Amino acid sequence: MLNLLDLAPADAEKVLREFAVAHGQAAYRGTQVVPHLWTKPVASFAEMTDLPLAFRQLLAEHFSLPRLPLEMEQRSVDGTRKFLFRMHDGQAIETVAIPDGDRLTFCISSQVGCALQCAFCATGAMGFARNLAVHEIAGQVRELALLDPPLRATNIVFMGMGEPLMNWKAVTEVLTILNDPKGFGIGARHITVSTVGVLPGIVALGQRKEQFRLALSIHAPSDELRRTLMPVNIKYPLADVIDAAAAFDRRVTFEYVMLGGVNDAATHADQLAALARRCQAFVNLIPLHPGGAMGFTPTAPEAIAKFARRIRNAGVEVAIRKSRGMDIAAACGQLRVERLRRRPPAAADHDREIDVA
Ligand code: SF4
Repeated sequence: MLNLLDLAPADAEKVLREFAVAHGQAAYRGTQVVPHLWTKPVASFAEMTDLPLAFRQLLAEHFSLPRLPLEMEQRSVDGTRKFLFRMHDGQAIETVAIPDGDRLTFCISSQVGCALQCAFCATGAMGFARNLAVHEIAGQVRELALLDPPLRATNIVFMGMGEPLMNWKAVTEVLTILNDPKGFGIGARHITVSTVGVLPGIVALGQRKEQFRLALSIHAPSDELRRTLMPVNIKYPLADVIDAAAAFDRRVTFEYVMLGGVNDAATHADQLAALARRCQAFVNLIPLHPGGAMGFTPTAPEAIAKFARRIRNAGVEVAIRKSRGMDIAAACGQLRVERLRRRPPAAADHDREIDVA
């Protein structure tokens, strides 16, 4: 059975039109199915009530529209909502919806676990289980649109579990589904792919004609330090990542998690500012989760403000992402760890800065 949710809208439309004709229907009957996949999603073929009943039954016999069962939801006082979806093989992923005025940003996952083992990240500590399929990534957005009342994303950040550019084959299809007017129709500038610096993926993202945004997790401004925090730096050294970011012809954001006594000295600020100037990047400073992570301690708020001033004085745009409790963008796995530790949901007030695009 062909899974229609693994296909880009244009491909699904082609398949469905051919299917309709092959079964004695007008081709437009196939086209009529397409809005029900993403734009105005419905849970099953039976609910596509603008189609003849017999054709709906025929569709159900030949195609699938897999759901992602929602296992748990948590809400924070500021309206942020976390969703835990269970995959068909028992694996779990999380998606977060963050309201901010008239915007609603979804932070979505692209892998179960992660192979890259960043020292401060809970997802990295879990190890890598598998890549998510197209329908499991785009399906997170679809499932939230199927809620009653529906949640419709205005912005998407690939900052959930996993490294999206290690799953490029699926992610590039998902970008099409998110952006295509026959998919979710979300503007490319409102879709941000966040990476630790997987070079082939950055090049591939840059080759897409749409203006998708790139966020780079820098977290250390020198190779020596970065190597100790992010093993990926051995394969993709910082200088090469910066070259790739400088060559990326759209806005780039640097993500920098503040680790007390590790990467928060004045010299680090100067080094970071120099790198950002080269790429004309915007810098997001991310306070560490108050509980710390994996033996790291947060930098004091005054010290973060000082660090930010130093960067700003060097002519670089910088923001401090407010974070209390969990920080969605910084540590891809912290949310999941929250759940595993069975803590009550923390009040997140980071929403204003989550939109890095
Ligand atoms: S920070 Fe991102 S890339 Fe690094 S281990 Fe965590 S999920 Fe993987």
